[in-house]
Amino acid sequence: MASDIEIARAAKMRPITEIGAKLDIPPEALESYGSTKAKVKSSFIAGLNGRPDGKLILVTAINPTSAGEGKTTTTVGLGDGLNRIGKRAAMCLREPSLGPCFGMKGGAAGGGHAQVVPMEDINLHFTGDFHAITSAHNLLSALIDNHIYWGNTLEIDVRRVTWRRVMDMNDRSLREIVSSLGGVANGFPREAGFDITVASEIMAILCLATDLADLQERLGNIIIGYRRDRSAITARDLEADGAMTVLLKEAMQPNLVQTLENNPAFIHGGPFANIAHGCNSVIATRTALKLADYVVTEAGFGADLGAEKFFDIKCRKAGLSPAAAVIVATIRALKMNGGVGKDELGEENVEALKKGCANLGRHIENVKQFGVPVVVAINHFVTDTDAEVEAIKAYAAEQGVEAVLCQHWAKGSEGTEELARKVVELVEHDSAQFAPLYEDDMPLFAKIQTVARRIYRADDVAADKSVRDQLHKWEADGFGHLPVCMAKTQYSFSTDPNLRGAPTGHMVPVREVRLSAGAGFIVVICGEIMTMPGLPKVPSANHIRLDADGQIEGLF
Ligand code: ADP
Ligand code: MG
Repeated sequence: MASDIEIARAAKMRPITEIGAKLDIPPEALESYGSTKAKVKSSFIAGLNGRPDGKLILVTAINPTSAGEGKTTTTVGLGDGLNRIGKRAAMCLREPSLGPCFGMKGGAAGGGHAQVVPMEDINLHFTGDFHAITSAHNLLSALIDNHIYWGNTLEIDVRRVTWRRVMDMNDRSLREIVSSLGGVANGFPREAGFDITVASEIMAILCLATDLADLQERLGNIIIGYRRDRSAITARDLEADGAMTVLLKEAMQPNLVQTLENNPAFIHGGPFANIAHGCNSVIATRTALKLADYVVTEAGFGADLGAEKFFDIKCRKAGLSPAAAVIVATIRALKMNGGVGKDELGEENVEALKKGCANLGRHIENVKQFGVPVVVAINHFVTDTDAEVEAIKAYAAEQGVEAVLCQHWAKGSEGTEELARKVVELVEHDSAQFAPLYEDDMPLFAKIQTVARRIYRADDVAADKSVRDQLHKWEADGFGHLPVCMAKTQYSFSTDPNLRGAPTGHMVPVREVRLSAGAGFIVVICGEIMTMPGLPKVPSANHIRLDADGQIEGLF
């Protein structure tokens, strides 16, 4: 089988105006970046208001192995499958970060015969959105230190500046730094640090903002740090929101590309799935819903994190109402959840698989709690055996849902026809009655408990008095209505990555809470969460180069 990049390169791409035409986007509504990428103009999007919405389908997954179980690949495969059976369908995906491209092998634009293209561009600089976000973020950082330098009339406590700097690269050496070294002319030395761009609150804001006015309002609400009396200072206090919005003006417009099968895909925004909500932008999803009858979208990590945040943060805030959810399961990840070691996942083991199915079962129950009907997509790997596939199907049937074998990675849309038909059937049955898990007015700690008990099936939440006091203070300050954004390991329902399957009886320890006042959620940190990744000992960057024809080698 050819590599992802070889398959992508062999794609017969159509001009982006033709892809737009499939959704009745006129050529003048597209701002082209070359011939195969375009931004959809804000003016055109504004004119779509009042049109009816298509049906929204979420692609989520069981608790994965570290390789990923194929949510993006299945999102693309299902979108192509829906088009194949004659539906007007579009996909909404996140933009990949540059950092991981040079670390571990593996792209974020799908795989095999279910990919979005041009994949090199999408994975590298694309249309410059990450540059814009990085710049807007660092503009605010620069304005903070500049304000302190010129006399600090806002009385920013330099020990309590919470706004850091960002870059779109894995670089552990920048996690904690001291800035303004070198003497009087360089300002006041203070502890600072870098996060990766996808962890920037601005990324989350861009993905939740409904238009440019809302974007500016949210940017103004960002809390950059505190005074000695602990009162908050915002980006608005620093008069930074206007200039930041200017830098983000183009980046707010969704990007349109195509799949290998020339179907439309919006790729826009890419927030972390731990300290942020892990979904593509609201503006892209809403635009797609106005233009297509079926919109397939992905949320990061397993359903305990990704689907919960998609429902409780994105759908709640944007007023979206998903019609169905697809839970991606792989035989290897189910075997891992059944206790099989990483090196033995390629061997048939029906017993371990059956044991691991408890993980799938809980995700099915969880998604149903939100009132969204479910189908399971078995993302087929070449090592899977028929006995294993049958075991999953039988298990799902016991849970009252259907599990469909999907071979989009090997065959493209031919491999997802059955899944597409099943999704259409679910949607047309119209049984979805979506509701978020908790009400806005529930106290913040009770929201955390609700997610921990009903989704993670923990006994309770453990938090120091300082954490509870902080939550109470935010409630008093008017932030009590915000949803919680849980940050924990993606490998387990619990906060222990090694506790596979469907654990019960565990506690969820809350280490820290952070207010993302601009994005509009409270981040609840359970365990170690990395916001600036490092590179492995032998990074994939070592093998990436241009060949004699100027083509990229070694990228995926
Ligand atoms: P996720 O979105 O869940 O993280 P991806 O769709 O990005 O997962 O897939 C993770 C990796 O696994 C990608 O490199 C992809 O090419 C590969 N992959 C996905 N499905 C298959 C499959 N059925 N067979 C082989 N490789 C696959
Ligand atoms: Mg993905």
